[in-house]
Amino acid sequence: MKACLLRSPAKVETNPLDYTDVPLPRPGRGEVLIRVHACGVCRTDLHVIEGELPPRKSPVIPGHQVVGIVEATGEGAHRFAMGARVGVAWLHHTDGTCRYCRSGAENLCDSPSFTGYTVDGGYAEAIVAPEDFVYAIPEGFADEQAAPLLCAGIIGFRCLRLSGIEHGGRLGFYGFGAAAHVAIQVARHWGVDVYAATRDEKHQQLARELGAVWTGGTFDAPPESLDAAIVLAPAGEIVPAALRALRKGGVLVLGGIHMSTIPPLDYNLLYQERVVRSVANNTREDGRDFLKVAAEIPIRSHVQVFPLAEANRALNALKHDGIQGAAVLKI
Ligand SMILES: [Zn+2]
Ligand SMILES: [Zn+2]
Repeated sequence: MKACLLRSPAKVETNPLDYTDVPLPRPGRGEVLIRVHACGVCRTDLHVIEGELPPRKSPVIPGHQVVGIVEATGEGAHRFAMGARVGVAWLHHTDGTCRYCRSGAENLCDSPSFTGYTVDGGYAEAIVAPEDFVYAIPEGFADEQAAPLLCAGIIGFRCLRLSGIEHGGRLGFYGFGAAAHVAIQVARHWGVDVYAATRDEKHQQLARELGAVWTGGTFDAPPESLDAAIVLAPAGEIVPAALRALRKGGVLVLGGIHMSTIPPLDYNLLYQERVVRSVANNTREDGRDFLKVAAEIPIRSHVQVFPLAEANRALNALKHDGIQGAAVLKI
């Protein structure tokens, strides 16, 4: 099969993914083989490819927002019929036995595997995954529309949940890429007022089109204080600016898997019971709950489609703010 292979981490400007032939994977016990139709391009893929996340498998096929159809099943895998449309997300597998898995926090599992990082992902014509960690994809979304829901969507949803934002609340987004452009649609559905701070004028425009009541530059102060804010850009210097925008007792959620160093904080920015917390991965419950609400709304993802062979070009566009909404590889 064709796949984009990362042999060793390098800057995306050097086009490090090799579009090449690799053996078709075979589903093991409890696994399904999925014929990939679309795979979203996530900022985490950039962190994997450029080595900001230490290499865990080499070479590796990146990609963890996979939509396709079940083409074969391994021994003991009975959950999906042949031809069922399914999705694979970042959380590829957990041990099910550690203290986190046993307490409903499998996103923090001590021995997890991650799609497109510790195991091969979806920048390929096919992928294998444990059926218990595969999602049914609701009807009503084209394959390329559904792909960004699987990471950008699910992680944005977990950020919304952990922010504690409620109907009538004021929520800030710092960075307005793939995750924010989906999460804003959920927030609006919940009756939340959204404030979007992002450096890119086109991203500000998209935020306004999706119902933001205010948009501004990353370091501009919103006109009202916020009940919660979500930082989705990987830049630590945003944290003090976002804290400055919070009301007393407000919650700041950091949604990225990687962030540059956070500068020293004046304690007054944190005092008055403001909370800063990170978000790590997601549980399968987050995924199922999000896909349900996504179908109800229904979420409309803005996508820019690239052929699989042009994954390097898609990654370069993402890195340099050239994507409005989400980039998706069509296979
Ligand atoms: Zn575990
Ligand atoms: Zn992702």
